[in-house]
Amino acid sequence: MSETRLALVKGKALKYRVRRHPRARSWKLTVSRDQGLVVTMPPGQNLAGIDELLKECEEWLELNVSREGVWEGPAIRPIATGTEILWLGIARRLEISALSGGRKLRRMEIGSGILKMELPADEVLHPRPALINFLKKKAKEDLIWRVEYWSLITGLVPSKVIVGERNTRWGSCSSQGTLSFCYRLVMAPPAVIDCIVVHELCHLKFCNHGKDFYGLLESFLPDYHQTHNWLTENATSVSL
Ligand SMILES: [Zn+2]
Repeated sequence: MSETRLALVKGKALKYRVRRHPRARSWKLTVSRDQGLVVTMPPGQNLAGIDELLKECEEWLELNVSREGVWEGPAIRPIATGTEILWLGIARRLEISALSGGRKLRRMEIGSGILKMELPADEVLHPRPALINFLKKKAKEDLIWRVEYWSLITGLVPSKVIVGERNTRWGSCSSQGTLSFCYRLVMAPPAVIDCIVVHELCHLKFCNHGKDFYGLLESFLPDYHQTHNWLTENATSVSL
């Protein structure tokens, strides 16, 4: 059971959803692109305290709701024939159709200006998971190849590369030398992807954003400033 409500956060209207959960032990706030703000309420509670709770968390809320762009509720784009999806920085028009003869094996193909999805009949109306799955697989191929390429040039070699869903960062580098990337990076132009890859590789040497770190990054990518902000400026185009 859930209901949609409005709150005033830092003087701005925020649309959110309240969900009652029988096993929830305490109130919980989550913010995501596809759900917006969801307030989970434990059993036996009422809505009386909710405004106060949101008030207490308003700094956190402003930061997270702005980052996900969900002041007006979930910000997911429709995935349907005609939707434009970026692939390596170039828009492809989705073309979704059902596989004929009850076939089950998805067929996906990226062409110039087009991304063709042939899906089992029961997936045609809900193609998002199939698209995400496909992009993840392609992203893995692309990013692993790019890391190998840049490792050869920079001499910086990670212990492991992980490509998956990350909502908060495009890439990260762990103290064990593992590089992680968000699969949606493959929607960005190649120069932007390279910039993130080299940025994370440089963290294998310097785990901060100090002068030495940027000096190293610049030695490999003298123009990195030009691509650094692309992902922030084009946040909507690289969302799903
Ligand atoms: Zn960094």
